[in-house]
Amino acid sequence: MHKCRFLSTAQNTLRVAIIGQSIFAADVMELLMERSNVKIVGVFTIPDKGSREDALATAAARYDIPLFKFPTWRCRKISIPEVIEQYESVGATLNVMPYCSQLIPQEVLCAPALGSICYHPSILPRHRGISAISWTLIEGDEIAAFSIFWPDDGIDTGPLLLTRQTNLEPTDTLDTIYKRFLYPEGVKAMGVAVDMITKGTALKIPQPVEGATYEADLNNEENQFLNLQQSAERIWNFIRGLDSVPGALATVVHSEECEEQVRFFGAHLYSAGPVKDGQPLKIKGLAKPAWVHEGGLLIEGTDGAFVNIKRIKRGSKMINASDWFKQAEQKPITDFTEDELAKKAQLASIWQAILKESIEDSTDFFAAGAGSMDVVRLVEEVKDTFDVPFENEHVFKAPVFEEFFDLLVKALRQGSGDSGAQKLDYDGFVLQANKRKINVPTQLFINGAFVDAEQKRTLDIVNPTDEEILCQVACASAEDVDKAVQAAHNAFYGSWKQVSARQRGQLMLKLADLMEQHKEDLATIESVDSGAVYTLALKTHIGMSIDAWRYFAGWCDKIQGNTIPVNPARPNNVLTFTRKEPIGVCGLVTPWNYPLMMLSWKMAACIAAGNTCLIKPAQTCPLTALKFAELTVQAGFPPGVINVLPGNGPEAGQAVVDHPMVRKLGFTGSTAVGKQVMKSCAVSNLKKCSLELGGKSPLIIFADCDLDKAVKQVRESPQCFFNKGENCIAAGRLFVEDRIHDEFVRRVLKDLRSMTIGDPLNRSTAHGPQNHKAHLDKLISFCKRGVEEGATLLYGGCRMSNMKGFFFAPTVFTDVQDDMYIAQEESFGPIMIISKFNGSDVDSVMERANRTEYGLASGVFTKDISKALSFADRIEAGTVFVNVYNKTDVAAPFGGFKQSGFGKDLGQEALNEYLKTKCVTVEY
Ligand code: NDP
Repeated sequence: MHKCRFLSTAQNTLRVAIIGQSIFAADVMELLMERSNVKIVGVFTIPDKGSREDALATAAARYDIPLFKFPTWRCRKISIPEVIEQYESVGATLNVMPYCSQLIPQEVLCAPALGSICYHPSILPRHRGISAISWTLIEGDEIAAFSIFWPDDGIDTGPLLLTRQTNLEPTDTLDTIYKRFLYPEGVKAMGVAVDMITKGTALKIPQPVEGATYEADLNNEENQFLNLQQSAERIWNFIRGLDSVPGALATVVHSEECEEQVRFFGAHLYSAGPVKDGQPLKIKGLAKPAWVHEGGLLIEGTDGAFVNIKRIKRGSKMINASDWFKQAEQKPITDFTEDELAKKAQLASIWQAILKESIEDSTDFFAAGAGSMDVVRLVEEVKDTFDVPFENEHVFKAPVFEEFFDLLVKALRQGSGDSGAQKLDYDGFVLQANKRKINVPTQLFINGAFVDAEQKRTLDIVNPTDEEILCQVACASAEDVDKAVQAAHNAFYGSWKQVSARQRGQLMLKLADLMEQHKEDLATIESVDSGAVYTLALKTHIGMSIDAWRYFAGWCDKIQGNTIPVNPARPNNVLTFTRKEPIGVCGLVTPWNYPLMMLSWKMAACIAAGNTCLIKPAQTCPLTALKFAELTVQAGFPPGVINVLPGNGPEAGQAVVDHPMVRKLGFTGSTAVGKQVMKSCAVSNLKKCSLELGGKSPLIIFADCDLDKAVKQVRESPQCFFNKGENCIAAGRLFVEDRIHDEFVRRVLKDLRSMTIGDPLNRSTAHGPQNHKAHLDKLISFCKRGVEEGATLLYGGCRMSNMKGFFFAPTVFTDVQDDMYIAQEESFGPIMIISKFNGSDVDSVMERANRTEYGLASGVFTKDISKALSFADRIEAGTVFVNVYNKTDVAAPFGGFKQSGFGKDLGQEALNEYLKTKCVTVEY
C-alpha cells in the first residue's frame, strides 16, 4: 500500500488538467473549482460534433479556462508531438480524468508531479473496459460500483484510490444506476479523491488479480444483439443493461423474406400468469412465438420463465409493445410532393435554430435537450410559418423529427389544420331536418371505433313527431358490453393513465368546444329523436351538457386529498394523508327524457375523476349519444376511454350492471328499475352505485306569494309542462292555499289555452310530442285512473286529436285527495295535480308534502321568509326551490332522498361519486 506524495503548503495550489468529456466531467470540474487550493489550468476534450460542442468544452469556455479539443492524442500508437506540447504548456500537477473515452499516452499520464486519477464505473478489476455499467447488469451482479484509480499503461489496471458501491435493485436499468448513483456519487467522490491527494492521504492499492474481467465494447452494434437462447433472467438482464441506450437488438420475422430489426426497452420478469387476448409475434432465435398483449410483449426464456417488454423502438420511433399490431396499421406518409419536401427543409431549419444541432430524421426533440419553453417556441414558429393550428401536444405526440413532419404534412393536407383529429368511418344515416343535413352514426361505439353489434340486431328509432322510423341503430348484447368493458379496462390501465389531470381537462374542454360548434346539429337530432322542442334542446339539453363538460373539466387538476393529524406512535412521528383516486371502469345507464344531458351530467364527472366508462343510453333515443361519440374521437380521447352502446335495458343495461370488471354504476331512471340495479350491483361484485330515480315533488303555493310569478313559473319552468312534463323534478303535486286556489287555476288554464303545441322544430312551439308510444299510453291510463278515483279533470287528459305523432294535451286535475293514485305516483308527463290547503294549517301541509316515498325536489312560493325557511328545514327532498322552480346549475349538487335514490349528479359532490379515497400512513 502506498501513499501519494504530500502536497506541501509551499506548493499550495494544485494545478489540475481535466481530461474527459460530458456533463459529468463538467460537474467534476466545477466542483473542483470551488476549492481554494485548486486551479483548473486546462481542459482537454473531444472536437465538436457538427456545430455541437461537448458539455465540458462549453463549461470551460464559460470560465475562460484554456481549452483543447484533440481528435486523438496518438497516431499509429505514437504520441502526436504538437498535442503533447500543448498539453505540457498548461503545467498541470495533477490530471483528473472524470470520463475519458480517448486513449491517453503514458507520458501524459505520468507527466504531472502528482500523476493522474481516473473514474471507472465498476468495482475494478471486475468489468474492465468501456461498457462496465452495462456488464454489471448483464452479468446479474448484486452490487453496482465505481472506482477511482491511478491509470497506468494497461486498460483499467492501475492501482485503486477509492471505491464506492450500492445495491442493485430489480428495477434498475443502465439509466437508473447512472442517475441515482454513478453520476451524483461519482462527482462527489472525484472531489474527495482530489482532497485526499491534497492532504497526502490518497492510497495506491494494487488491483487484486482474482475476479478480473474484461468485456466487449457494447458500442459495437454486433455486441448489442439479444441472445434469446438463455434463461428469462439473463434475457431480462441483457435488456436492462442496454436500457435506455442503445437498446437490445432483436429481429422480428414478418415472413421468410421480410425481417425487421427492433430494439427492446423496459423489461421485467413476468409472473402474472397467462396473457389474455395475446397475438403471436415471431422473433428470430426464439423457438416459440412471443405474445403481444395488453401489458407488452411476452418472451419465454429457455427455463420456461417469462420476460415482459414494455417498449419497442422501430426505426426511430418508440412505441408501446402492446401497440405493435395497432401501430402497424398506421401508415406513415411516403408520397411527399416537392412542395412538402421544401417545407421539410423549412421545418428542419426551425428545429435547428431551437436545438442548435444539425437535424436528422431521427432527431428527438427532447433527447436533444429541449425544454417546455422550446416546445412553445416550436409550436408558435410552426403555426406562424405554415399556418396550421398546431398545439403543444403535437410535439409530445411526435417528438422525433420524421414523425413531427409527418403530422405537419397530414395537417397541411387536411386543410382544416386539425392534425390531431382522426377521420372516422361509420355506418350511419343522413338526417335532413331543420334545414340541415347531419350525418348520424348508427353503430355501437367501442374502443374508439363504430362497429356492428355482435348479433347484428338493431333497434327501430322512431320520430315521435310523425311516428315514422328514422333509422335502425345497432342493439348491443352482453357480448358487446363485454368487449366495451375490456376496452375501457385496457384504456384505464394503459393510455388513459398516461394522460395527466391537466391534459384530461384540456381534452374535456376541447370536447365541449366541439359540442358547441355542433350544437345546432345536436339540438336538431335531440328534437327529432326525443321530441324536445328545438329551442329548449338548444338551451337546456345541449347547452347544459356543454356547461357540464366545461364545469367538470375545471375540476380535473383540483382533485386533492387531505393531510390528517393522527396520533403519533411515539417516539416516532406519523404522516397520514388521503389520495382521491379514480375507481376504474364505470357503467352509466340513462333514461330518455334528456338523452345528451343525462349522459353529460354523469359522464363529465366520471371522466374528470379519471375513470373510463361505457354508457347504455335509453333505447328509444340514442342518437345524440352516438353523435357525441364521434366528437370524442375528434377531441382526441384515447380509444376505450368512452364507449357508447345503445341497447335495451333488461339485456345490455343489465349486462353493464352485472359485469364483474365494472366497479361503479351511475344510474338514472325509475325507482323500480333502480332497485333492481342496486340489487345486481351488490350481487355481481359489490360495485359502488349512485341512483337518480323518480320523484313526486311537492310544490306549496301560499296566498302571500307573488301570484304572477308563481303562475309564470308553473308554465315556463319544469314544474309540470316543461319538456312535456318528462322531467324528473317536475312538481308532481301542487298544494295551493284555498284563498288563491280558484284564481291560480283560472290563470293556469288561460295560459294553457294559448300554448302552441306542434312540431318541436318550429321555433314558436312550446309543447312537443311525448317521447314514445308506450309512454303516451301510460299517460292516458294515468289520467283515466285519476278520473275514476274522483279527481276533477279540468283540462286535457287525452291524446291530441287530429294530430299525427305522440302528442298529449297538457292536463290539469283539481280536487285531488292525498290517497289517490295520481297523488302518489309519478306521471312523468304534462299533468298538473292540484290539491287545496288552508292557510292556517301550515304544519299539516308540510306533513302532507312529505307523505311520499320520493324525495327528489320540492318548492315553495311565499313572501314570508320564516315560512320559506321553515319549509326548507322540514322538507325531505334533495333539492328545495324558494320562489323559483327548476333553478338547476351544473355547479349545484342534484339528487334525491328516500326512494328517489342517493348519490349526487353535478357540483363537486358528483366527483366523489366517481372517486375512491385511499388513506396512506407513514411512520418516520
Ligand atoms: P327506466 O328505469 O325504465 O330506464 C332507465 C334506463 O335503465 C334505460 O336506459 C333503461 O333501458 C335501463 N334499464 C331498464 N331495465 C334495466 C335493467 N334491468 N338493468 C339495467 N338497465 C335497465 O326509466 P325511464 O327510461 O322510463 O326514465 C324515466 C324515469 O327516470 C322516471 O322515473 C324519472 O323520474 C327518472 N329520472 C330521474 C332523474 C333523476 O335525476 N332523478 C332524471 C331523469 C329521469 P331501456 O332503454 O330499455 O328502457
